[in-house]
Amino acid sequence: MSGSDQLSVGFIGVGRMGGPMATRLIAAGYSLVVFDTQEAALAPLLAQGAQRATSPADVADRAEIVMASLPTPKIVTEAILGATGAVQGSRMQVFVDLSTSGPGATIALSKALLARGVASLDAPVSGGVTGARNGKLSLMVSGPRDAYDRVEPLIKHLGRLFYLGDQPGLGQTLKLANNLMSAAAIAITAEAMTMGVKAGIDPTVMLEVLNASSGRNTATEDKYPRCVVTRRFDFGFSTGLSFKDVRLCVEEAEALGVPMVVGSAVRQMLSITQNQFGADSDCTCIAKTVEQWAGCEIGGQNSNDK
Ligand code: NAD
Repeated sequence: MSGSDQLSVGFIGVGRMGGPMATRLIAAGYSLVVFDTQEAALAPLLAQGAQRATSPADVADRAEIVMASLPTPKIVTEAILGATGAVQGSRMQVFVDLSTSGPGATIALSKALLARGVASLDAPVSGGVTGARNGKLSLMVSGPRDAYDRVEPLIKHLGRLFYLGDQPGLGQTLKLANNLMSAAAIAITAEAMTMGVKAGIDPTVMLEVLNASSGRNTATEDKYPRCVVTRRFDFGFSTGLSFKDVRLCVEEAEALGVPMVVGSAVRQMLSITQNQFGADSDCTCIAKTVEQWAGCEIGGQNSNDK
């Protein structure tokens, strides 16, 4: 029996992450109903046989399981609870939020959906566009166990599943912690690399040494060699969304009474980078912020100018 015989699946928000995730579900045999406000995001999925919906409510009229990969908690809440939101649809039984929405919005959404007889799971993902394409994401899932058991055969096509229990929002909290650490690695690597390059070290050599030493991290291993030294700045995660994640993280820590001194500095670096290069710039542009202040490019022509 193929996936398409078992379940009808809806997908709202098929951008950088949602697009490749939806593609994997189609490849696994599921029949998808998709909605996005951007025609360019929809086109590749329609070409693979996905059906177009006219609104989130239309998606939820045609699918039992509705997934979303949307930019911000406000957009997720509007797409699900708004006037043309998925909650207005007649068929949705389980909602799976793959977006990074933060625990506060997730808990409120899960209560509102439960009151309408819909179970919800927060299942934010890590692994970037490459992980989404290859089915190598990690999914941090929380919410009712029976809903998890129901969607597990579906979401396992996206990557490795970590079920954290039935308390809504735990997946979101863990995801915020992860993204704080990932953004902090980009920011601190910008400072360290710019210092080394300005002093005269070749950036490729510097990364090779760091990756064989205790300073290595996800930025030195992947983002700097692939996106910064090459000057491509194309990791695929925007500065605006990274700023949103770290802002949500610091706010959540404040609410829990946990100090985030370093986290607050990372939030500031993202805010400055967003002002300087725009919300749509790649999150690796934090390196450009430090480079501008230092008057030295990592991998650029002035790399070895002291
Ligand atoms: P994106 O901007 O590329 O995609 C979002 C999509 O949502 C776009 O196609 C946009 O047109 C669509 N959209 C916006 N408002 C809508 C609405 N009201 N109704 C329907 N569609 C709407 O963003 P992305 O990078 O794919 O990120 C999506 C989510 O995944 C975010 O919460 C982000 O934090 C998270 N995330 C991103 C990455 C990454 O590396 N890009 C990694 C992990 C998690």
